[in-house]
Amino acid sequence: MATTAAQGRICRNFINGEWVASRSTRTVERRNPANLEEVVSVVTLSTAEEARDTIAAARAAFPHWRAVPAPARGRILARAALLMEQRKDELARLMTREEGKILRDALGEVIKSVRILEFMAGEGTRLSGETLPSDLPNNFVYTIRQPMGVVGTITPWNFPVSIPVWKIAPAIVAGNTVVLKPSTYTAQISALVVEILSDAGVPAGVVNMVIGSGKEAGGALLEHPDVRAISFTGSNAVGAHIYSSGAERLKKCQCEMGGKNPLVVLRDANIDLAVEAALYGAFASTGQRCTATSRVVIEEAVADRFLESIVSRAKAWKVGNGLDPDVDMGPAVNEQQLETDYRYIELGRKQARLLLGGERLSGGVYDHGHFVPLTIFDQVAADSPLAQDEIFGPVLSVVRVRDFEEAVNVANSVRYGLSSSLYTNDAAKMFTFIERIETGITHINSPTVGGEAHLPFGGTKATGVGLREMGHVAVDFFTEVKSVYIDFTGGKRESRAY
Ligand code: NAD
Repeated sequence: MATTAAQGRICRNFINGEWVASRSTRTVERRNPANLEEVVSVVTLSTAEEARDTIAAARAAFPHWRAVPAPARGRILARAALLMEQRKDELARLMTREEGKILRDALGEVIKSVRILEFMAGEGTRLSGETLPSDLPNNFVYTIRQPMGVVGTITPWNFPVSIPVWKIAPAIVAGNTVVLKPSTYTAQISALVVEILSDAGVPAGVVNMVIGSGKEAGGALLEHPDVRAISFTGSNAVGAHIYSSGAERLKKCQCEMGGKNPLVVLRDANIDLAVEAALYGAFASTGQRCTATSRVVIEEAVADRFLESIVSRAKAWKVGNGLDPDVDMGPAVNEQQLETDYRYIELGRKQARLLLGGERLSGGVYDHGHFVPLTIFDQVAADSPLAQDEIFGPVLSVVRVRDFEEAVNVANSVRYGLSSSLYTNDAAKMFTFIERIETGITHINSPTVGGEAHLPFGGTKATGVGLREMGHVAVDFFTEVKSVYIDFTGGKRESRAY
């Protein structure tokens, strides 16, 4: 079995089944965010020309790959699921060193990716169309799904295994060929994903990877006429650019972007469960999840009890290097995210009531990584930047409300619409919330984070444009529907009114 991707620390491109060193001389070092002395990888910033090489390889592989029966394409994904499961510890350790999330969460992400591969393997036998009655006698009408050709996938650093998997798996099971442009912060772990797919039997040219800057390597994917669709996950600024330049070139685009997810707690809720969910939702993975709980919207009547409990629970969390099994929360991914976190913390100190954290961490291990404390603000105004902006760090804002009606309005008062959660035992309020909350995913008495492989994933409003990812619907984005009319009358079509 070839293990070329992980050899050494230099990340290479994957073109037509080969690991190819970039010709570019521009490199950046990726250091472990929990230990800046450790260089995890050296990332070469490939040129636009190299990105075009990957597109050419994908284009050349398309005619053969689309002709492989879909169930056989699915069986390759089933093998990839087995290989990924076998290599889960290696993947998780590299993810912790490269991205920073604690080992337990990294392992959870790998296992989830295995589940996605398993589910998408089965999609090979379920690429169905519809048969419908024709208006005409002795005519047969039906639809089939067909691949589009070369698709570009542009991915962020925060789920460096799951997100490439949940884009590439439906794309290739549907018969497309792919170019992956991963984040340069997590290029090494993305290379392992591509290596596993290749080892599982994905033919040369079907999945290619170019490592480079968003502007140059990502831009080449956006501009190239052979790339029929772009599936992007990342920030709103970049997503808006991708969506508009895709529109100019009439490319199909799917952009999944930021979140500002509320966890609503009503007075009749089980407060212990709500505290547990908010703690995990806000601080696991250092708050760097698109589905992280960044707002608790709570009825005044139970706010003090909830806050007392969450603050005392959060105090027990240990911040540090995620390879240490005693650590509960790892570092911010990079210096830019660290500074964003501290900027909002400073703002919160002026505009809200600080209950926990708020000070720069320093001394010992904290001087060697991008560490931020678990921070909780109470009495945050619903329309303030703290309650409106995606911070993407371990900063929880608590907004107090009078009643359920105000809670729903506050929950919906942001431009994002990814995930939400409600804690209550009142069935009528549960169903009212499900009806009115403006998010693509909602949870009742469970945390805002998490999602299962066979359910659609994505957001409303400024969070998501294009079709949903994951689940059965994921292949909709990666296929064209063809309507087929077959006339078996053996005669000339009469123009008749029916
Ligand atoms: P980012 O937007 O900075 O980068 C995402 C990807 O886009 C990277 O590969 C980057 O190189 C590329 N890119 C940057 N500029 C580009 C350009 N001009 N043209 C083409 N590609 C370009 O995002 P990030 O910091 O890596 O990730 C964090 C963001 O991702 C957060 O906002 C988070 O909410 C979001 N996210 C959303 C979901 C979701 O499903 N809604 C899931 C995970 C993360």
